Amino acid sequence: MIDAIGFATKHASGKLHPMEIQRSEPAANEVQIDIMFCGVCHSDVHQARNEWKNTVYPCMPGHEIVGKVTKVGADVTRYKAGNLVGVGCMIDSCHHCDACDEGLENYCEEGFLATYNGNMRTPSKENLTYGGYSNTIVVREDFVLSIPENLDPAKAAPILCAGVTTYSPLRYWDVGPGTKVGIVGLGGLGHMAIQLAVAMGAEVTLITTSPDKAGDAHKLGAINVIVSDNKDAMKANEATLDFILSTIPQPHDINPYITLLRREGVLTIVGCIAPTTKPLDLSKMLPDRKNIGTSLIGSIAETQEVLEFCSQHDIAANIEIISIDQVNDAFDKIDKGDIDFRYVIDMASIQGMKEDKGLLEKVGL
Ligand SMILES: [Zn+2]
Ligand SMILES: [Zn+2]
Repeated sequence: MIDAIGFATKHASGKLHPMEIQRSEPAANEVQIDIMFCGVCHSDVHQARNEWKNTVYPCMPGHEIVGKVTKVGADVTRYKAGNLVGVGCMIDSCHHCDACDEGLENYCEEGFLATYNGNMRTPSKENLTYGGYSNTIVVREDFVLSIPENLDPAKAAPILCAGVTTYSPLRYWDVGPGTKVGIVGLGGLGHMAIQLAVAMGAEVTLITTSPDKAGDAHKLGAINVIVSDNKDAMKANEATLDFILSTIPQPHDINPYITLLRREGVLTIVGCIAPTTKPLDLSKMLPDRKNIGTSLIGSIAETQEVLEFCSQHDIAANIEIISIDQVNDAFDKIDKGDIDFRYVIDMASIQGMKEDKGLLEKVGL
C-alpha cells in the first residue's frame, strides 16, 4: 500500500482538513501519478457539502488532476515514469455495456466510477474513491490522459472537467462556423465554453446577470453580451441564437433563455442537476420546434480531444493558484458565484502535512 495524504471532510458542514489515506500499489494496468495541480470545480463544493444528497464520507474531492507518472504496472504501454498526465471525472467504467462499447464511458449503464465519491449511481463505502486534493493517485491506464507539451500544467487542469463538459455538447450539436451560440454564465465552465466555441468558428454571445463581466467575455472572444435581468435586452435578442449552453450551477428559470432560441434551436444544460425553479413553458417551444438537451462531462476520447484542441488553439483556463490550506476559502467564494476563473491548487503545498487526530477530535471533526 502507498501512504498518501489529502484534504477531506467527514460531514456536510465540515471544513476540509488533512487526512491520511492508503492507496493500492498500481496493478498491472494502472499508473501512479504524483499530483502537481488540481482544479477546484463547483462540483467539489456541491459534493463536499452533500448538496446532491449522494455524498459518502469522508469526501476527498478533486477531479481536475495534472501530475507526473511515477510508477506503472507491468502491462501499461502508453505511459512511463516522468510523463505529464491528467485525470478527469472518471477513473473506471463497466467496459461491457452499450455506452462503454461506443466509447461513451461517461454514460456507462452501470455508472462510471467517479474519481471521488465512488460510483455516482450507487455511491457506497465499498466503492468509495478519493480524489485529487491529494499528493498521489493510482488510476487505470485507459482513464489517464496525456497532457500536450505546450500546455501549462496548472492551466490545463480545468480542461479535464470544465473543458470537456462544455466541449462535448458543443461538438455533439455541431457548433461551428455560422452557428450563433449563447453561453449562459461566465464561471469556470462558461469561460472555457466561450473560448472553445469561438475556436470552433461560432459567433458567441455571453448571457449573464452581471454587466461587469462584459469586458472579460469580449477578451475571451464573445462578440455580444446580453444582460439577462434587462428585459429590453432580452426582448431585442429574441429568436437570435441557434444553440445555447447553460452553465448555471444553481436552480433557475430556463424559460427566458428559450425565448432567445431561433426555430429548431437547442438549449443544453450542463453543470446543474437541480430542477428548474419554474415549470417549462412549452408554449415558447412548440411553435418553433425548439429543443432542450442535457450533457454530462464527456468521454475519455473527447477529453483527450479537447486537450489537443486547446493545445492547437492556444486555449487556457483563467486560473488563480492557491495552496491547499486556502481551499475552504475558495469553496466559500465559489459558492457565492462571484468568480470568473478557476482556482487551481498547487499540490506541492500538501507536502509535509499530517493528519492531526487530536485537533480533529477537539473541533468535532
Ligand atoms: Zn467538475
Ligand atoms: Zn459501461
